[in-house]
Amino acid sequence: MSRPISASINPAALRHNLQRVRLAAPNARVWAVVKANAYGHGIENVFHALRGADGFAVLEVPEARRLRALGWRGPILLMEGVFDARELEACSRLDLWHTVHCDAQIDWLAAHKSQTGQRVFLKMNTGMNRLGFPPPQWRSAWARLHALPQVQEVSAMTHFSDADQPAGTLAQRRVFTATAGDIFCGDVSLSNSAAILDGAHGAGAAAPAMTLDEDWVRAGIMLYGASPGYPAHSSTHYGLLPVMSLHSRILAVQHLQKGDSVGYGSTFVAEGPLRLGVVACGYADGYPRACGTGTPVAVQGVRTRLLGRVSMDMLCVDLTPVAQAGPGSEVLLWGQSQHYPSVTVPVDEVAAHAGTIGYELLCALAPRVPVKVLEPAR
Ligand SMILES: *Cc1c(COP(=O)(O)O)cnc(C)c1O
Repeated sequence: MSRPISASINPAALRHNLQRVRLAAPNARVWAVVKANAYGHGIENVFHALRGADGFAVLEVPEARRLRALGWRGPILLMEGVFDARELEACSRLDLWHTVHCDAQIDWLAAHKSQTGQRVFLKMNTGMNRLGFPPPQWRSAWARLHALPQVQEVSAMTHFSDADQPAGTLAQRRVFTATAGDIFCGDVSLSNSAAILDGAHGAGAAAPAMTLDEDWVRAGIMLYGASPGYPAHSSTHYGLLPVMSLHSRILAVQHLQKGDSVGYGSTFVAEGPLRLGVVACGYADGYPRACGTGTPVAVQGVRTRLLGRVSMDMLCVDLTPVAQAGPGSEVLLWGQSQHYPSVTVPVDEVAAHAGTIGYELLCALAPRVPVKVLEPAR
């Protein structure tokens, strides 16, 4: 038998989560964000379940090429636009919509010989201060783009810095509306997952009505069933289902006595007799080394805890609550158990034990972990 670790992708959960986006943003079209190889899930593994989206948003041209190779003829958006002038040829050839966030991208467009008119999303910096034109420059960039024969349509987008925080999105929405409200004629795209869910739920519910209607939302993490607002709100709170589950098995069992320690650095010391399971999963699989004693893990459908340090290829778990477990017993590192479907270990919870967010764990799944799709997707 080969090494027992694997990740499974659940297309039914993807379809369910896409429905959650529709419910939360009923009047908007949906960009399914599949950058970072679909947040570590694999573009080819999620594509069929996400075909119901209105478009796909990616970071790089090769991702767009893979979507076209899968047969997707609908809209594809490059969320940071082109990285050099040559990529505009790919935009024309693959019929990509692209973001414009800086003057250089406009210069390249002005020099581009294009048969087809380009569709661009002009990015406004409304407070994130990463990419985009500040409001006054945004208006002149809009005028410049509008005058270019290469450009067929200018749409507008911004990105929120605090959609999952008490500060919310209202201040940035106001800047956006004040800047774009009167000149605007293409589509508007504002919301990531946190803003989509906030607009539908809580404190921010009143905000969208005070701003421009949104034509396109950009849904990322919620499609994959993790929460953009953990620990304030869990994925269950938002009605999301985990898409990726990381499974493995117990390789060996050790019987510790009081005073025995486990693993590198001897960070865990037994206070009494303890049965310990050694699991085929380590940081070279993408499981965070920063997770310490107490991180949740499920063995044969029973939640228990990690013990000691995570090493490159193994980690250790407490078998005290699972008397029947032994070598070969199934272990769920995160996601949903296949044999005990009511048992979940939310990736957000594991991430919190490592001082990070679910996004990072999903994106960091290592290439050596085999990935399988659970059911034939329709
Ligand atoms: C990644 C990204 C998103 C999706 O964010 P989630 O929090 O995963 O929903 C939306 N917009 C932009 C510009 C992004 O880079």
